[in-house]
Amino acid sequence: MMTTDMNDDFSGASGPASRRASRGAVVAYGEKRVMVGGGAPIVVQSMTNTDTADAIGTAIQVKELARAGSELVRITVNNPEAAAAVPAIREQLDKMGIDVPLVGDFHYNGHKLLTDFPECAKALSKYRINPGNVGQGAKRDTQFAQMIEIACRYDKPVRIGVNWGSLDQALLARIMDENAARSAPRSAQAVMYEALVTSAIENAVRAEEVGLAGDRIILSCKVSGVQDLISVYRALALRCDYPLHLGLTEAGMGSKGIVASTAALAVLLQEGIGDTIRISLTPEPGGDRTREVIVGQEILQTMGLRKFTPMVIACPGCGRTTSTTFQELADKIQTYLRDQMQVWKKDYPGVESMNVAVMGCIVNGPGESKHANIGISLPGTGESPAAPVFVDGEKTVTLRGENIAEEFQAIVLEYVRSHYGRQGVAG
Ligand code: SF4
Repeated sequence: MMTTDMNDDFSGASGPASRRASRGAVVAYGEKRVMVGGGAPIVVQSMTNTDTADAIGTAIQVKELARAGSELVRITVNNPEAAAAVPAIREQLDKMGIDVPLVGDFHYNGHKLLTDFPECAKALSKYRINPGNVGQGAKRDTQFAQMIEIACRYDKPVRIGVNWGSLDQALLARIMDENAARSAPRSAQAVMYEALVTSAIENAVRAEEVGLAGDRIILSCKVSGVQDLISVYRALALRCDYPLHLGLTEAGMGSKGIVASTAALAVLLQEGIGDTIRISLTPEPGGDRTREVIVGQEILQTMGLRKFTPMVIACPGCGRTTSTTFQELADKIQTYLRDQMQVWKKDYPGVESMNVAVMGCIVNGPGESKHANIGISLPGTGESPAAPVFVDGEKTVTLRGENIAEEFQAIVLEYVRSHYGRQGVAG
């Protein structure tokens, strides 16, 4: 039976757990310094899908990702042409006024590319090394050490990024042998988790032995299953204090990729695990790469972990909204707010906390609108064609006619100008 007892205890309904204590690693380019871990806000990053050898095309995509809010951008450095293009990409970005730090992604030949192309090694702000793709046998340790020595020489942080699609097979075999020798061997799944975590930690220890400072190391252990990711990162978080890069690898396309990433990351972030995130979405053909940045920001913002852009609260609509007017208005306002943030974030600090409600009818419209900074309740089917607007809980005006969207947008702009930033009363 439901109870309305006012003594119900909601004291446990706090927000996310405190962030797990980790060392902080600074990723820098010029004056720009992005702190990963160490209690800093969780960093959103992304990765290009252009051919890195195409310096102009890559610089343009990096710019788009940075403008969308990516605080670090990773590019693959997979061959000599790509390595040769990295300084040119950096130069193009400088010309465009984009100071986002670039991360180089290395597999198989990273030791050679970083050695042969010192300007590439210098232009990058961080290296990602996949310990499963560094080399075989005795060469493995030498090549790994070679990359770490270059990171030390140029004072670059390194992400040791384990991926279960390219797990170090020698290490996996060793852990399987150790497991077989146990009196009660663990499941194959547990052995896989153990191998992933061990690979990350052993390689971090090795990197420190080679000379890389502990606060120049970030770890990741990416897998593609939601429950697997949660289990692996919980174990990793218990066993080290390096900052953790969080992401579900090969999350997939469209809603599946978004849902799977959100399901996995939300659980871990709620537990205080994760210092930087990347949402690995497969773009639809011709799709916009910046989607992964927006999804990452929205996960953090809807969880109350960071604020990036004003949020639009919109009802789903139902049989009471037979026209598309309210959907169009919600979409227009959301796009308008995101587009304006390029300018607003400089001129109106704090505006990212604003909430705007766009509601479809009188049932929940006025109530929800009153709880937002600004809200509009559009007329549902059969209601009089009037849209009351609420500002800070008070009804201020009722809009009618063809230009409701434009008039509402003007009210939002006026609210921003008067409430945030230097001229504002609450900025
Ligand atoms: S606010 Fe009105 S239109 Fe929107 S979902 Fe609720 S009842 Fe339907």
